[in-house]
Amino acid sequence: MATVLCVLYDDPVDGLPSTYARDDIPVIKDYPDGQVAPTPESIDFVPGEMLGSVSGELGLRKFLEDAGHTLIVTSDKEGPDSEFEKALPEAEVVISQPFWPAYLTAERIAKAPKLKLALTAGIGSDHVDLQAAMDAGITVAEVTYCNSISVSEHVVMMILGLVRNYIPSYQQVVAGGWNVADCVSRAYDVEGMQVGTVAAGRIGTAVLRRMKPFDVGLHYTDRHRLPAEIEEELGLTFHESAEDMVGVCDVVTINAPLHPETENLFDDAMLAKMKWGSYLINTARGKICNREAIVRALESGQLAGYAGDVWFPQPAPQDHPWRTMPHHGMTPHTSGTTLSAQTRYAAGTREILESHFASRPLREEYLIVDGGDLAGAGAHSYSAGNATKGSEG
Ligand code: NDP
Repeated sequence: MATVLCVLYDDPVDGLPSTYARDDIPVIKDYPDGQVAPTPESIDFVPGEMLGSVSGELGLRKFLEDAGHTLIVTSDKEGPDSEFEKALPEAEVVISQPFWPAYLTAERIAKAPKLKLALTAGIGSDHVDLQAAMDAGITVAEVTYCNSISVSEHVVMMILGLVRNYIPSYQQVVAGGWNVADCVSRAYDVEGMQVGTVAAGRIGTAVLRRMKPFDVGLHYTDRHRLPAEIEEELGLTFHESAEDMVGVCDVVTINAPLHPETENLFDDAMLAKMKWGSYLINTARGKICNREAIVRALESGQLAGYAGDVWFPQPAPQDHPWRTMPHHGMTPHTSGTTLSAQTRYAAGTREILESHFASRPLREEYLIVDGGDLAGAGAHSYSAGNATKGSEG
């Protein structure tokens, strides 16, 4: 029987909600490219309830314990004395979330001799040292597509929020003010702007589709070019590289995984190539942007605004400069963990565990690393090598 070690974010400060804002959530059966949403044999949770925090347990306890497995759930993930690290030696499966990543470094993998499966309850497995996982023969899987649309909605919200100066205007109201001029002195329309995405995968393409009705010019760069009919339908301009693209864009959104090609991609040099006063939205991974360079660009005015929900490390320390830099619209890492998204990634996690324990192959699209190599979605979107050492340092 296996030990499943699950690291989730803390419960709400007042405990799990006893009531919810809505009675139900829409049922999503498949995604825009035809991929079928998670199909576990059954679920033991109510869709729309809090599953992503510690007490939610991703709805897994009954399923695992009925089968004789042990489930350990904790949010305590940092350092050798953490519950996570203490339980690692026994774990066959580690489940973690990008929102509250349990960094699975080479050192930690070495402390987990029984580990067979590192499962991301969400998308983005850069918190795992993928090269170390390949070397150790560990399968890495994630719930591909489960929250891609959730994130794309967040990106659109943040583009509008920054360009239209929503947050300072909201703060005026809360503070009892009514200075319209103060609110609009940094407010613009998105209409007519040039909007570009670094990567046009599931999220990037969904952002492009959602921005199209705003009558903007749409741009993208990616390692693989989109089919000509999609370029034509959306009126896309393709650029060979991010460097080539950013100079023509008023708004840039980053939607690539964090791997050696993208780590620190937005440094001082890249930011200097952007249009003066442009906006940058990063819901991909914090380490794709250089922390200090972003602060400098906002302070100088090179960037008119920066927003996103991804930081390094997570949780962000109190003194993280992105909490206090000017003209930002940061949130904690929330875009992919709405109650709607939680339902899908909990169901996907259950589906992957059902396959794992029945020794059935996982869905190809869920695989990042398998059999000592990049596989499935991972082979398409990531690159081999010592990615980011499981996001350390
Ligand atoms: P996809 O795999 O569908 O898309 C990733 C895209 O990035 C692919 O098209 C890939 O290209 C492209 N890409 C990879 N490397 C580069 C590069 N060097 N330059 C340009 N493009 C590149 O994933 P999703 O769209 O679903 O998710 C993307 C990322 O967003 C995730 O990896 C994760 O880090 C982040 N994310 C954040 C969430 C949040 O809550 N904030 C939630 C979900 C995801 P190709 O495949 O053509 O090689």
